Amino acid sequence: MVSSVTPLKMGGLRLLCHPDMMNPPGEVGEFGLNHIPAKNAACESGPEGSNPSLSATDTERPALGVAMYEERPMRYWIETLGCPKNHVDSEKLAGLLVSQGYGPADSASDADLVVANTCAFIEAAREESIETVLELADAKRDGARLVVTGCMAERYGDELAEALPEVDLVARFNESLTVASTPVALRARPTPAFDLLNLPRPATSAPWAYVKIAEGCDRRCGFCAIPSFRGDQRSRTTDEILSEARALTAGGVREIVLIAQDLASWGHDRRRGALGEAVEVLDEGGSQPLIELTRALSNEVERVRLLYLYPSGLTTGLIDAILDTGVPYFDLSLQHSSRKMLRAMRRWGDADRFLERIAAIRAADPEATFRSSFILGYPGETEEDQEDLLEFLEAAQLDWAGFFTFSDEEGTYAHTLGSPVPHELALERLREASALQDDITAARRDSLVGTRQQVLIDSPGVGRSVRECPEIDGIVMVDPDLTVGSLVEVEIVASHGTDVEGVVR
Ligand code: SF4
Repeated sequence: MVSSVTPLKMGGLRLLCHPDMMNPPGEVGEFGLNHIPAKNAACESGPEGSNPSLSATDTERPALGVAMYEERPMRYWIETLGCPKNHVDSEKLAGLLVSQGYGPADSASDADLVVANTCAFIEAAREESIETVLELADAKRDGARLVVTGCMAERYGDELAEALPEVDLVARFNESLTVASTPVALRARPTPAFDLLNLPRPATSAPWAYVKIAEGCDRRCGFCAIPSFRGDQRSRTTDEILSEARALTAGGVREIVLIAQDLASWGHDRRRGALGEAVEVLDEGGSQPLIELTRALSNEVERVRLLYLYPSGLTTGLIDAILDTGVPYFDLSLQHSSRKMLRAMRRWGDADRFLERIAAIRAADPEATFRSSFILGYPGETEEDQEDLLEFLEAAQLDWAGFFTFSDEEGTYAHTLGSPVPHELALERLREASALQDDITAARRDSLVGTRQQVLIDSPGVGRSVRECPEIDGIVMVDPDLTVGSLVEVEIVASHGTDVEGVVR
């Protein structure tokens, strides 16, 4: 299993990315919102005792807005958990704070405004979010304000505010981060859907950037709670996306990574709105909106990479458009291969259909790279289903895959199902599938030795060819003196598990 926690530093914005959070759902922890650790109760709270309401007249501590009496600009620190979609929100939030006079802090302890942008995807993500909030509460200096926002704030706002007295404000998506004179609205009404998505973002220090093209999801997969707190899909317009892409490329970005909950369905909600009728996701006629967008973006930037493709949305037209970009990378959100399990998950497809599609893509481009993610231990899963998955992995020879144990989320269809799989058994299945995939991944990486690859230098000593998605996959280790942001051709001379070594020759 390829998995790591990757801290990035972008000015004062520290991004903590757990790549496995990019696709649902992950390891189940033993800790949830109802089990706040005892140390929490002992934590010091603000002067008002618990979750004080903030106001511009609060003289003991500076207000969250731009305080004119401060000699130095107010500084912010944002800690981001969860998936790349959350990271984009944080970048935009940082851009808004900067536009309002805030500057980036060097650390949480140096900031006047400390923001935790949380993830509520599964129990393990919630646990990590709460631990981070508690760490930030300990780290922040006296008088600084601590705000919790993101999916946990949206899903558990009141419960969170009650359970974490050291937090000054729990801000849902449509609420302000401040109550001072210059509020920072995450999503100001009356346009609740996109003011955050369309905010400008600060220049990135990396030569690649995520671009979120839609929010929410119209599907209702059995295990997934995301639509319940992110809502139905709302797509940005082509113009909005292109102008963000142009701003990023002007700042030195050479690879754009498109993200959304259900990327292949981008634009369908807008088309529905215009036509007043439902549009099928399966669209072999070549008029799937994402096809045009992919082609338009590839005229703007050297690399366009698409993540989170629901398999039925991977149409012939979209496959062609992806191959034409020169980044033949297919991140297929499969979740299982057993037809019975996929129906129980309320999802499309089965092993035969997936293999057929993968084979068609490889026939068109033998260099195509595949990633996917899978859930082990969904209710009703049997040894036969596990065998089905192992056989599929062997046949598919994916380059990358992530494996997760089922996380039982309240409010989902899966929560109502019987036949739970014991957690230990789910873990055992996960280990079995991971071990098989690790060997496949290593063999596919070995096969690159002796080939020439064009790599984008992300940071000193770290490059990526089109086969590696940033933050999720392995890397190409290169000479640390190669210029960051340059595209360089290297020969792959060695392979070390997930990473390979490239030299300029
Ligand atoms: S497609 Fe939508 S409902 Fe299904 S797992 Fe992804 S976000 Fe959840």
